[in-house]
Amino acid sequence: MALHSPAKVNLFLAVTGRRPDGYHELISLMCPLELADKIHMRVGAGPVSVACAHPDVPETGANLAHRAARRFLDAAGIDAGVEIVIDKRIPVAAGLGGGSSNAAAVLSGLNRHFGGPLTPAFLADLAVSIGADVPFFLFGGPAMAAGIGEILRPVAAPLPPFHVVLLCPSYGVSTASVFKNLNLALTKCKKIHKSYPLDSQAFDAARHLCNDLEDVAASIHPDIHAAKATLLDNGASGALMSGSGPTVFGLFSEADAARRAERSIAGSGQWRVIKTRLRV
Ligand code: ATP
Repeated sequence: MALHSPAKVNLFLAVTGRRPDGYHELISLMCPLELADKIHMRVGAGPVSVACAHPDVPETGANLAHRAARRFLDAAGIDAGVEIVIDKRIPVAAGLGGGSSNAAAVLSGLNRHFGGPLTPAFLADLAVSIGADVPFFLFGGPAMAAGIGEILRPVAAPLPPFHVVLLCPSYGVSTASVFKNLNLALTKCKKIHKSYPLDSQAFDAARHLCNDLEDVAASIHPDIHAAKATLLDNGASGALMSGSGPTVFGLFSEADAARRAERSIAGSGQWRVIKTRLRV
């Protein structure tokens, strides 16, 4: 079975609180990208196994795709093995949700394969038990996320089909370390959501692009601010860090402008540059 496992960007991310169990509550506008991993999955006898040539992706039970397969089989009471091969194209630990996307692709792929033994609600519960971003990838389109990411609603109005240029630093960032350094008293995106409520109006890059985790990550990695400035200097309508970073994305209305920015920034050799599109 061949599975398509897209990356995402957060076009808006306000951290609104912290639950007693340590999870952060947020309001986020999330959108899948055309950029995607390819997954091949084979159901048979034997154990659950994962193969991935990327050096930073575990091939053990710590792999989120492995965890998803194991939890699905246990929950559905199915005695089978699953062989998963991941062709990793999404930069790792980059704020683009690659691992969560892989987990969601495996959950829905297995549920389809076995004729739907788990209800969508049960599958969504399994998803959030694997990671806060996994329910979004099961949802399968642009969404407003609330709670810790498990409460999902369709967007108020269709998103513009922006071309996207991603600037990916060579280092990864751990989501946990960014949240640990976050001072909730200093967050500012909630105010923007109050003035220009995202759940009732169309997305407007000039007003809505905001990420409470950006300054936290940039205080550790100042090149995040430099990446934003570079994208804006190269004609982006707006630029923002995605998720907990460190990837910064620029939005372009025209393909030509995105291509020019891609070429010019790639020439500097400072970042890995990927041109893609919102999958609206
Ligand atoms: P998060 O916000 O969950 O940290 P991210 O998008 O920033 O997500 P991922 O690419 O999902 O980053 O990788 C985060 C960590 O998860 C990495 O350190 C990686 O080793 C581990 N990981 C486990 N399974 C996978 C997977 N299938 N693909 C990518 N990374 C995985």
